Amino acid sequence: MKLHIHNTFTAELPADPNKNNTRRKVFDACFSYVIPRIPSNPKLVHVADDVAELLEVKKDMNSEEFLTIFSGKKVYPSTQPYAMCYGGHQFGHWAGQLGDGRAINLAEVIANGKRWALQLKGAGETPYSRTADGLAVLRSSIREHLCSEAMFYLGVPTTRSLSLITTGDEVLRDMLYDGNQAYEKGAVICRVASSFIRFGNFQILAARKEIDNLKKLADYTIKYFYTHIKTEGAQKYIDFFQQVVTASLKMVIHWQRVGFVHGVMNTDNMSILGLTIDYGPYGWLEGYDPHWTPNTTDSQHHRYAYGNQPGITLWNLVQLANALYPLINEAKPLEAILEQYQKDFDKEYVDMMARKIGIVQVNESVERLIEGLEKNLQATETDMTIFFRELARVQKKNTSQEAFQKIHKAFYKPLEVSGATAEMWNQWFTLYISLLQQEEQTDEARKFKMYEVNPKYVLRNYMAQIAIDEATKGKYDIIEELYQVLKRPYDEQPEFEKWYAKRPEWARHKVGCSMLSCSS
Ligand code: AMP
Ligand code: MG
Repeated sequence: MKLHIHNTFTAELPADPNKNNTRRKVFDACFSYVIPRIPSNPKLVHVADDVAELLEVKKDMNSEEFLTIFSGKKVYPSTQPYAMCYGGHQFGHWAGQLGDGRAINLAEVIANGKRWALQLKGAGETPYSRTADGLAVLRSSIREHLCSEAMFYLGVPTTRSLSLITTGDEVLRDMLYDGNQAYEKGAVICRVASSFIRFGNFQILAARKEIDNLKKLADYTIKYFYTHIKTEGAQKYIDFFQQVVTASLKMVIHWQRVGFVHGVMNTDNMSILGLTIDYGPYGWLEGYDPHWTPNTTDSQHHRYAYGNQPGITLWNLVQLANALYPLINEAKPLEAILEQYQKDFDKEYVDMMARKIGIVQVNESVERLIEGLEKNLQATETDMTIFFRELARVQKKNTSQEAFQKIHKAFYKPLEVSGATAEMWNQWFTLYISLLQQEEQTDEARKFKMYEVNPKYVLRNYMAQIAIDEATKGKYDIIEELYQVLKRPYDEQPEFEKWYAKRPEWARHKVGCSMLSCSS
């Protein structure tokens, strides 16, 4: 297997001189060198063949070398793996140093003319492991591997996942944080992204007043990942911040569009490139509910609930602005950018929702229509994915009753859709159809465009859980099946119709489906 190694992060940023793998605070450095743990009996479970292709290693997918390198068993020749130092705000509170506690960067490679960082997750302890073991279980690794790829094919900016490998080792976890510990199968995935730098990498340097290093990290990030910024001095960092705001806004608009709930939007889980990163207790909206969060750790405050994600993105950006401030020394331009975020978000959100309902000419009536829709979708439990997909079948000639029938299968409790609720829908469809009639596009053209933004297949919480339950028994077919379905989320794929279904009742309150903790 030939990887074209080209390290820049370790070559250009300050290293921790201490090479011992002891848990500690690491000062005056952006990373520490570490060696992955040797797994006792690594076995390949799944490879995302498109990612292998991206990295020019597809022909090596089934080789022994692939397995040894991407399980952490062997270090690739002439490379020096490392863990990054970062801090972060967790659930709104500054947590100090966090860092790659169970992520180990193998190297940066150039493949097909592009730069990629390769990172193992679950490959053992690092100086940043704090009180934990640096390992990951099969359950959470399946979730991250499949969801990274599903998000990519949905068109959502994300880190990717090359491979899923079981280690042959047992990992002790208290899955629900209720005192019931149990051994689970250990696993390692190899994540792939242009860079894994997070807001928290900047925050830790600012918090420690390591301003020289802060500047080095910002200059490095701009040089490689925001290459079009050509300004100098303070303006350079203002422009950088603006670009990160734009990228983060774009990411969260996509989340809202597909119904993805990240679950742990701490600032250490915010990529500086606006990529979705760190798939933990994430979930997908089934019933459309802005207050829903899959994360039981957040069940009291719902800080990271679906409807809060845009506001939390802004909150996190404020923390990034504070971290970059020492390079700018002027609050006004940063404040102006943050104020603009809210305005831009409001506009982008309406545009995105208008696309979801297939309307081209956005005006005040459309804004009212969208507000009304959000209210109706919450009136009774309504499946978000099915609703928007079926809505595309509505035609200009339909009566509001006929249109309503077309989306009927999105309701979880059809009997509740009567009286006032039915009347709300009747009024909504009357307005909707009248707006469709004012548009030039044909029903067929609208349907086609709506299908491009409203996926038919998403990684519903229960689907991931079925893959996990099977994998625990040593059967991995469902992982491959879901990987294939989710590669073409906007296509009809009648052969996979069974995955286009509302959450089954057994999954309503099942652990792993509606309830997830950070334990992974
Ligand atoms: P999270 O918010 O789950 O992404 O993780 C918060 C911090 O805890 C990060 O610094 C992680 O690297 C660290 N962490 C999470 N799980 C483990 C683990 N099993 N072993 C070591 N560190 C971990
Ligand atoms: Mg994290």
